[in-house]
Amino acid sequence: MTKQNARILIAGASIAGPTLAYWLHKHGFEVTIIEKAPALRLGGQSIDASGPARQIARWMGLEPAIRAVSSNEAGIQWVDKNNHIEAAFPRDHPLSITDEMEILRGDLVNILYELTRQQVTYRFNAQIERLDQDDQQVSVTFSDGQCEHYDLVIAADGIRSKTRKLIFEDESVFKYLGVCVAYLTIPRAPTDTNWARWYTADESRIILLRSDSKGTTRASVLFLYPQTDFEKLAPQDHKSLVLSKLADAGWEASRLSEAIEKGEEMYFDGIGQIKAPQWFKGRLGMIGDAAYCPSPITGRGVTLAMVGAYLLAGELSRHQRFEDAFSSYEGLMRPYVESVQGLPPGVPELLYPSSATGVAIVNKLAGLLSSRAVKTVINLLKPSADQADQQLNGLALPRYGF
Ligand SMILES: Cc1cc2nc3c(=O)[nH]c(=O)nc-3n(C[C@H](O)[C@H](O)[C@H](O)COP(=O)(O)OP(=O)(O)OC[C@H]3O[C@@H](n4cnc5c(N)ncnc54)[C@H](O)[C@@H]3O)c2cc1C
Repeated sequence: MTKQNARILIAGASIAGPTLAYWLHKHGFEVTIIEKAPALRLGGQSIDASGPARQIARWMGLEPAIRAVSSNEAGIQWVDKNNHIEAAFPRDHPLSITDEMEILRGDLVNILYELTRQQVTYRFNAQIERLDQDDQQVSVTFSDGQCEHYDLVIAADGIRSKTRKLIFEDESVFKYLGVCVAYLTIPRAPTDTNWARWYTADESRIILLRSDSKGTTRASVLFLYPQTDFEKLAPQDHKSLVLSKLADAGWEASRLSEAIEKGEEMYFDGIGQIKAPQWFKGRLGMIGDAAYCPSPITGRGVTLAMVGAYLLAGELSRHQRFEDAFSSYEGLMRPYVESVQGLPPGVPELLYPSSATGVAIVNKLAGLLSSRAVKTVINLLKPSADQADQQLNGLALPRYGF
């Protein structure tokens, strides 16, 4: 396989797929992306490209486009049931969830598509049904029955990746973290400001409201839910489960219930991580959430997707044999994935108190953590933003000629 004529197929047109396609094209590969949906899927909440992903976004020339559609969120406030502010973490606080490159997921997906659509072949309404590989190539059978040949196939089709199942044949890599989440978009209300608002209710429930850049508000409902119950849930149960969790949650929960009752589209899933012992099998591989979803709890899904895509393309560009590229990539990426996926002890459970007293304690703790003294200490201990952008687990982020 040489770069000049190598053909690479990517499944999934979200963050990981188009970022990989961008860098592969730059390195001289011929790339096709297939997407199962009939068009780009532009749903989702605010996300951010942090650490080395921020640097990669800069190298891709994305920073002005991201800043142009950024939500300009001021930071996050912890509020009680009367909307009284218990703690505030401004954007520059190291514990704030608001990042410098905050952007709606759909806006980033669109920006990546616009950046790559001239150089890469996109096919929507397409997915892989069968993969057969030999020493020379991969034969791909698509859902419409057509068969094509590629040098490599990379799955970038998300946490529930069907392509991963085709390659590795089992689904045991999904590790449920005991939390369910529902995302929806609701009409803006006078209480919505340019601060995200985090409300903890008793019985292990959290509601997060964030004004977006489109004049609406993005809402997340999160709650602890046992694994055994989660495994029994059917899609038709999701709505009633979320409504039951909102029913007596207090604060602004009724805004969300009303939107759900009116039929507002709601995305629901269990929160989990993908921990896969293998990322490659011969000429087949996977990146992004399909390979190593860290879960929204870490807030680093986009970061891992972009860093993994950049490194994989780079390693393929500097190795003659794809096997060497895959193993070199894994040597760089695995330690980084493991550090991002590592959750501090007690996370997520400690954030979800069951009693009213527990809620009061958590809110008091948030108040302490938001103090100037804590901010100063954390800022002294953590690397500067510039250092974090250039580094991957303490090593310099590799450059591959661009
Ligand atoms: C609709 C949607 C909304 C999301 N909202 C949030 C959010 O609010 N907050 C958050 O932290 N994360 C969210 N995520 C996940 C987030 O995008 C990822 O954690 C991160 O960006 C890594 O992206 P990825 O490209 O690896 O996977 P994803 O972003 O999950 O993208 C996978 C892509 O593959 C496509 N696909 C699926 N199956 C196939 C198939 N068989 N063949 C071809 N294509 C396929 C999907 O339609 C999708 O476009 C969302 C993902 C999706 C798809």
